[in-house]
Amino acid sequence: MVATLIDGQAIATQIRQDIASKVMNFKKVRGYAPGLAVLLVGDNAASHVYVNNKRKACEQAGIKSEVHTLSGDTPEKEIIAKIESLNADEQIHGILIQLPLPEFVDAARVISHLDPHKDVDGLHPQNLGLLFAGRPNFIPCTPLGCLHLIQSVLPSLEGKRAVVAGRSLLVGRPVALLLNFKNATVVQAHSRTVNLKEECRWADVLVLAMGKPSLITANYVKPGAVVIDVGITRVTNPDGTTSLQGDAAFEDVRQVAGFLTPVPGGVGPMTVTYLLLNTLSAAEKSRY
Ligand code: NAP
Repeated sequence: MVATLIDGQAIATQIRQDIASKVMNFKKVRGYAPGLAVLLVGDNAASHVYVNNKRKACEQAGIKSEVHTLSGDTPEKEIIAKIESLNADEQIHGILIQLPLPEFVDAARVISHLDPHKDVDGLHPQNLGLLFAGRPNFIPCTPLGCLHLIQSVLPSLEGKRAVVAGRSLLVGRPVALLLNFKNATVVQAHSRTVNLKEECRWADVLVLAMGKPSLITANYVKPGAVVIDVGITRVTNPDGTTSLQGDAAFEDVRQVAGFLTPVPGGVGPMTVTYLLLNTLSAAEKSRY
């Protein structure tokens, strides 16, 4: 069996057309555009690329976007002051703090200063708590994108066995929770999991969110499984060029899986799409 590829870019493009028409309606009714502020601290090359993609996607959807850049040595107090000024800005409905923050910054403390009503990445403790309680407000964008891709090929997850490899707050943990809400039976694997291969082999749905390029080979995958590869790592090839690689050894896993997301072009475009959706939703809920 050769896996069918799940084209995240095509699915994202379709959803974004719908978002653009909803944004147009929003502007007609309210007289202004939804506004997103992205806060970028430091000089991480990958972050610059991601922020630029988000800015372009906002522009195409008609969402007003601002990128606020602070140098990598900005004291935590000043980062928090910037967030508080964005919290108070009535033209801004959503705020995204581009991660990772510089190492000396306590990311959890900084995120806790966001207005939870503008927390379009769903990482404020209040939003994480609501998600945990099954009463979500904002749900992190990448996990929402993963669920959408899974359900594009497997609409009902009831009774399915799912393994999520990775347990970060940004990706793995919320993905596992969302699959649990859809009545899948979920195993959350991590770096201390004793036999990852055995855990993965029974999964009908396998979500890879480790950042370990090509760790998952065909013998980790149940024949016919849906494999969602969140991992993105830039690796240097033998000829000296670089490329982006997922956690799945793509050509190998493709021989066994039923469905597989490519890297790039799988989860990434869906993350940006759910950022647009969360921003529109924040603006719709806002009084201003
Ligand atoms: P992270 O915070 O570094 O978390 C990695 C997780 O993987 C941890 O829970 C870790 O376990 C687990 N892990 C590491 N090595 C493992 C192993 N050998 N076996 C099993 N589990 C292992 O990373 P993240 O922010 O979740 O991101 C994960 C990947 O997704 C990265 O490549 C990132 O670039 C990518 N990403 C992509 C998107 C997108 O839109 N496509 C968005 C976000 C992230 P412990 O908890 O035990 O340490």
